[in-house]
Amino acid sequence: MSKEIIVGTAHSKGAGVTKGVLKIADAPDGSPLNAPVVIVQGEQDGPVVWMHGCVHGNEYCGTYIIHDFVRSLDPATLKGTVVALPILNVSAFQTKRRMSPYEGYNGGDLNRQFPGDQGGTITQQMAYALYEPLKKYADVLIDFHTALTPDVRWALFPQVDGKAGEMSEKVARAFGYRDTLPAPDSILAGSAMMTAAKAGIASFIVECGGKIRAFTDESVADAVDRLHNVLRVLGMEEGAVKDYGTMNFFSNFEWVTATDGGLFERRVLCGDTVEEGTVIGQYYDMFGNARAEAKSPAAGIVLAIHPGPVMATGETLIHIGLNPRAA
Ligand SMILES: [Zn+2]
Repeated sequence: MSKEIIVGTAHSKGAGVTKGVLKIADAPDGSPLNAPVVIVQGEQDGPVVWMHGCVHGNEYCGTYIIHDFVRSLDPATLKGTVVALPILNVSAFQTKRRMSPYEGYNGGDLNRQFPGDQGGTITQQMAYALYEPLKKYADVLIDFHTALTPDVRWALFPQVDGKAGEMSEKVARAFGYRDTLPAPDSILAGSAMMTAAKAGIASFIVECGGKIRAFTDESVADAVDRLHNVLRVLGMEEGAVKDYGTMNFFSNFEWVTATDGGLFERRVLCGDTVEEGTVIGQYYDMFGNARAEAKSPAAGIVLAIHPGPVMATGETLIHIGLNPRAA
């Protein structure tokens, strides 16, 4: 039986691919900021998987993953529906920034503003425009982000009680990135993931690659394969569910900002295990002299590290997954 799904001007009434736009705000010249929408509805009934990218406007890897994934779907064999919004934060995307240039005083991190506010700042209004249809239709939310370098690959799912938590873990295991954080419900308030999970929607964040062009075709193709495995575990595509093996689950993560500046060379890769005090990078001064070593503030697994080649104090130095345990 076909479903009627309306997201902005994309109006899907049955099997096939429907495209349209969702207006999320107005630009200063009064023109609409339109987020592209693609709805792929299968011939047969099944869950609705909602996926979106570029919540942070310069995290283009997720857009490439979603585009490739959507092109790989076949409504004739799909059971259920994929609703894809590959570019959410349109004005940030256009200006190659993380956040909207039209945001005023709030900093404008769209992934801290859900469920949004119809009468709030531009970012709060964007969150509202996106969250309304998401809440209405989504059974599963998959949100794509990047960090700093091409070797970033880890994931998060919300550790919430009940079916949404169980289903989120099932999706995370089917996607199968080795390094995965069951996120405590005390963190990431206002993220689409945590907001949806608390409303009973299974949800999941993929962190793949770095911002702008810091990602590879291989990691995009690999993520697309893993998304098909998610569809298989949800019963939306035929075929055996692949087991990606033992995962590392973390207790939490720790962000550390740099207290030194200068030219910087990293000494560790994403996925490496570090101890407290492990040398993670080397600073040089303007004359080329080795100046200071950056040391890991905690034991765990490197989720992200500053790529260099230059760094000022206050930039993100490292992001560590704490207390990895086989899961
Ligand atoms: Zn992001």
